[in-house]
Amino acid sequence: MARAVNIRELATKREVATELAHHGSGYVLAAAMAGGLALRGRGPRPGRGDAAAVLAVVALQPVIEWGLHRFLLHMPARMVAGRRLDPAATHRGHHQVPDDVGGALLGTSFAASNGAVVAVAAAGIGAAVGGPVAVGSAVAAGEAGLLAYEWVHLLSHSGYRGRTAWFRQLRASHLRHHHRDAATNFGITSRLIDRLLGTAA
Ligand SMILES: [Zn+2]
Ligand SMILES: [Zn+2]
Repeated sequence: MARAVNIRELATKREVATELAHHGSGYVLAAAMAGGLALRGRGPRPGRGDAAAVLAVVALQPVIEWGLHRFLLHMPARMVAGRRLDPAATHRGHHQVPDDVGGALLGTSFAASNGAVVAVAAAGIGAAVGGPVAVGSAVAAGEAGLLAYEWVHLLSHSGYRGRTAWFRQLRASHLRHHHRDAATNFGITSRLIDRLLGTAA
C-alpha cells in the first residue's frame, strides 16, 4: 500500500534507511548486485581485469547520471508519429512534489528495468575492459552504483543534513536543482560532470 511520507521529516540516516526498507527498489538493486557477485564468485580469483572493469564502470556512472538527468528526465513531452511521448513525466512529478518519498525513489518495477539495463551495459563494459571473467564484477559495480544513486538521492531530500562537507555540498546542489534552477546541478552522487561541463551552480 502506498504510504505518503514527507521525506524532510526523516532526520537521521537510520530513519531514511528504515524508510528505504519499506520500498522495493533497494531490495531489487541489492539482489541484482548479489547476482553479479555470485556470477563472479564462480570464476578464478579476482585480478587486474576485475579492477579495470570496476574502475571503468565507476568512472562512467557520473557521466551517465548527468546525461540521463540532463537530456531524458528534463525532456519536454513530444508527439512522435501521432503518439505522445513523455519519458520525463515521472521526474516532472518528482519536481512538483519533491518531498514525497515514493516520487523520489525509482520504484520497484522501474528499479528492475533500470537494473536490467545497467546489468547489460556493465556486462558489456566489463567484458571489453577486463575480459569475460570480469563481467560479474562489472555488473556488481554497476548495480552498487545505482543503489548508491537511490540512497544519496533519498538522503539529499531528507532532513538529514550530513556530517561531511562532501555530502552537504551534494545535498545543497540537488536541492538547488529542485528549488532554484532546474537547468543546473544534474549530478546526484557526484558534482564532477556539472563542474566539467559548466552546469554547476
Ligand atoms: Zn530529487
Ligand atoms: Zn531534475
